[in-house]
Amino acid sequence: MESVGERIARLKRERNAVILVHNYCLPEVQDVADYVGDSLGLSVKATQTDADVIVFCGVTFMAETAKILNPGKTVLIPDAAAVCAMAQMCSPEQIVAAREANPGREVVGYVNSTAACKAEMDVCCTSSNAVDIVSSLESSGAIFVPDRNLGTYAAGRCPSKDVVLWDGFCPIHQSISVQQVQELKAAHPDAEVLAHPECRSEVLDLADVIGSTEKMLNHCRASERDGFIVLTEVGMRHRLEANCPGKRFYFPEHAVCGAMKMATL
Ligand code: SF4
Repeated sequence: MESVGERIARLKRERNAVILVHNYCLPEVQDVADYVGDSLGLSVKATQTDADVIVFCGVTFMAETAKILNPGKTVLIPDAAAVCAMAQMCSPEQIVAAREANPGREVVGYVNSTAACKAEMDVCCTSSNAVDIVSSLESSGAIFVPDRNLGTYAAGRCPSKDVVLWDGFCPIHQSISVQQVQELKAAHPDAEVLAHPECRSEVLDLADVIGSTEKMLNHCRASERDGFIVLTEVGMRHRLEANCPGKRFYFPEHAVCGAMKMATL
């Protein structure tokens, strides 16, 4: 009888499919992936594949992004109820109203948003390039949607820009507190602190390195340190441990995104 892994491999061959998995997904799902990465990295991979079918294990806005980049391909998501809570905090109608209330400002949107919202933006950014995108705007004013934390981080590094912030946030990163970080630092005083810019600004102030999960991985690979406090969703531990043997990673263990765990084998 076929195992689940064998059945997945056979279906992949039969459908000429590629499996893209976000690094917050379950470890066993990451292990059957053709590519594991963050939303930007996976979007780039999606444009490079010659597969007919893209199976996108993540949340719905990521599968939508893969479809935008590959309109001729079939894009499947294992569970269409896997919705990002932050992406739900902004609607296209609200963006239109905000634009009318703030004439002359360009709308910069984080990729963590629905396709309908993206259609109302002037430019879309990721956590990796938010600062570069805001600093490169032609106008001096912007509206940043939907993540107020990433918007605050980008605006703070672009002092010539006047940025109106949306009131959205990732509940997982928002829940990481200064006290939790201080407790992790006290328990692991030699560890470097890496933080995702979706965290609150007072948490980012405690970090040695701020960046996307891809930047975190590259930093941990290159660093001579062997211990890291990682302020992002706990699913990232699997990829870090697989790519950095012998190094230790400490997470705020409550930082679990239910939507990212909905894709199962
Ligand atoms: S971790 Fe946060 S931003 Fe990422 S999918 Fe979950 S709710 Fe959305």
